[in-house]
Formats: sequence, C-alpha cells, structure tokens
Amino acid sequence: MSVVEKSLSQAAIELENQYGAHNYHPLPVVLTKGEGVFVWDVEGKRYYDFLSAYSAVNQGHCHPKIVNALIEQSKKLTLTSRAFHNDMLGKYEKFVAEFFHFDKVLPMNTGAEAVETAVKICRRWAYKVKGVSENEAQIVVCNNNFHGRTTTIISFSNDPVARENFGPYTHGFIKVEYDHLEALENAFKSNPNVAGFLVEPIQGEAGVYVPSNDYLIRAKQLCEKYNVLFIADEVQTGIARTGRLLATCGNCTCKNKNCSGTPDVKPDILILGKAISGGAYPVSAVLANDAIMNVITPGSHGSTFGGNPVAAAVAMAALEVINEERLAENAYVLGKLFRSELNKYIANSSIVKLVRGKGLLNAIVINDSEDNDTAWNICLRLRDNGLLAKPTHGNIIRFAPPLVMTETQLMECVAIITNTLAEFEIH
Ligand SMILES: *Cc1c(COP(=O)(O)O)cnc(C)c1O
Repeated sequence: MSVVEKSLSQAAIELENQYGAHNYHPLPVVLTKGEGVFVWDVEGKRYYDFLSAYSAVNQGHCHPKIVNALIEQSKKLTLTSRAFHNDMLGKYEKFVAEFFHFDKVLPMNTGAEAVETAVKICRRWAYKVKGVSENEAQIVVCNNNFHGRTTTIISFSNDPVARENFGPYTHGFIKVEYDHLEALENAFKSNPNVAGFLVEPIQGEAGVYVPSNDYLIRAKQLCEKYNVLFIADEVQTGIARTGRLLATCGNCTCKNKNCSGTPDVKPDILILGKAISGGAYPVSAVLANDAIMNVITPGSHGSTFGGNPVAAAVAMAALEVINEERLAENAYVLGKLFRSELNKYIANSSIVKLVRGKGLLNAIVINDSEDNDTAWNICLRLRDNGLLAKPTHGNIIRFAPPLVMTETQLMECVAIITNTLAEFEIH
C-alpha cells in the first residue's frame, strides 16, 4: 500500500472520527463498492465480505434485480405516507403475507421498530384478548438477547454496555435462560400475566448460539399450553440465512427438503428486517394472523415511511431473488461444507476452540479470554488477506457471507481463514 493510497482510507476514517458520534468501533477498512460476495476499498483492494452487513445483504451486494426495483420505483413514487393509499402497498402486503403464510403484515423500517411493534401488538393482545388487567402484561425474553437499540428494547437486554446510563428502563419483561425449557415453563407458571415469549431462533449477536434441536418446538408447545404468544425475532436468522427461508421455517415456501434437521415452528408473531430488502433500503415487517393483528386499530400505531412504495418494490424483488436463486439451499449446502472444512482445521488447532452455526450463519470461538484482542487481531489479518469479518463479544468471530457465494469461492475463503488462523497458532 503506497503512502498516497493509505491517506485515502485514513482521511475517510478521520472524517468519521471528527464529525460522527462514536457509537461504533469499525474495523479499519473504508469501502466504496460492492458486487455479489465482494466489496472494494477506496484503494481498490477487493475483499470477501463475511459479515454481509449483519446478514442484511444475503442476496449479495448491489443485486441488479433489487437495485433495478429501487431505481424504477423511485422514479415513479417514493412516499405518500399512510394518510393516502398507494398502488404498491397492498400488492406488497399480499405478496409478503402469502410468502410467509400469515394473514397480515404491519410494515416498518428497521429491525428495532419491528420488535417494538411486536411488543405493542403482544401487549394489546394481552388486554383485549387474553384478559390481562391494564398495565400488568409481561413478556418473557432470554438472557443475552439482542433485539435492537431503543429504550424499551435495551430495558430487557443484559448487555451492560448497551444499557449503562440509559435508564429509567421500561418494565414488563422477565428474563430467562436461553435454551432452557424448565426456566421458561417456570416463568409462564408463576406469572399468569405473561402474554408473549420473544426469542431469537439462534442468538446471533450473542455469538451465534444454536439452541437444542427441540427447543423452539417445545417452547412453542409451552406457549400454547399457557396461552402465550410465541414471537420469533428473525431479523438476523430469517430470509434464507440459516439454510431455510426462516430458522423457524413454519410453512415456509423454501423448497429445501434437506433443511428438516429442526422441526418446523410457526410463530404467532414473526419479526423480519435486514435481508428482507437485500440491504438496499431499510425495510422491516411484523407478520401475524388476524386474531392477533386485528388488535391494531387506526391511529394506534404507525410510521411515516413504513410500507412506502420504494420499500414495497425493493422487498418484493429481494424476496423473489431468494426463491429464484435458491439461496436457502445454497446456504444449507455451503454452511455444511464450511463447518466440516473448519472442523478439519480445528482438530489440530490450539487457537480455535470450535465452529458452530447453521447454514451460513457461523462463528468460531478463539481460545482466549473475552477481554483479550486476539480475535480483533485475527480480523485485522483476515482483512489484510482479503476477507472481512468482525469479532462479536471479544473472542468470537462471526462468519456470514452473502448467500450467493459459489462452492469454489467458499473453498477459497476457507483457505484464507485457515491460513490466517495458522499465523496465530502458538507452537
Ligand atoms: C439487527 C437486529 C435487530 C435490530 O435491527 P435494526 O435494523 O438494527 O434496528 C433486531 N433483532 C435482531 C435479532 C437483529 O439481529
């Protein structure tokens, strides 16, 4: 890298440091272009993207079909607000409701907004349908959850960094251990006011924790037993990432018959975001059947941009790409290959403890304590070697490439990753 080239990246980073709030700690790389599984930095160096914008870019960067939908719709009509109807919203709502087999959708923009919306729907349902007394509804959540960054959502997080000095916190949430059915049933049993169970099918931000095979289906059965809504936050796990359309999969349209390792679970409320737009536009959605969604009445919830015509066009294109390019199946096949190749390496490794995940949502655990910087240093070296990934929780590195990857590309990436790890082995 020449001195002149280096200054391009450096200048961009310095601008962010000076004029932007320091709410992130990015890997030092400045990107300017993306296509498929690749991104390029301002010096022209090409990288494999192994984060996919936290699984928002499952369809690959700048997918031509999605970008075209964005361009064409933005030339025609971008925003009406919901004060008036438009000719895209209904079309999109029918499309997405049928795609995921629910009666209705409530369109929002970001994942956190969709989680907030699900919390509101669940609380209303508690009062109007379940018969909980006003202000008494409880929602059960899991330890180490990640559902977004609003004040209510961080109120039920147990990440001290996300919570500290942001109180007072919102009440009405009960935390239980993840992947622990007894703890869940105890919470339901001892609190008749529990109206919902909000859960990530795989805890992504926490470090890609995959629960036991029967956890979700048995949790759903407990929800039915205690008249509690099963609310699946599939913002990160949804849209083909884990080798099926949804990690819960309930009646999904994916044709992947190999994905049946985990039983299908149909959530009462499904929360989607991130890759529902292929990363081209902020789009999120909450889906439910009429018996639940009809608790929402005019004026009780809304969003100026939610369900705008551009979002509608982009999301339809992004979901069509998932089926047309059979991305769930590709994620399933490549994910298996990825874990088996990494396991071959790990068998003789002292620096990597294990690899875990489903489909193309995987992570390795570095043999180091959480507050050491080995994982960060490995990510810097991966960057130098042409692959971008980021540590989550200190000693865990998540690997989540776009799902449009080919087997040849994946094997090239496995070589980059294992060669890089080899540089860190303690001999
Ligand atoms: C990213 C994420 C969110 C929040 O989405 P934003 O669009 O960043 O608000 C919520 N839940 C899960 C599981 C996520 O991964």
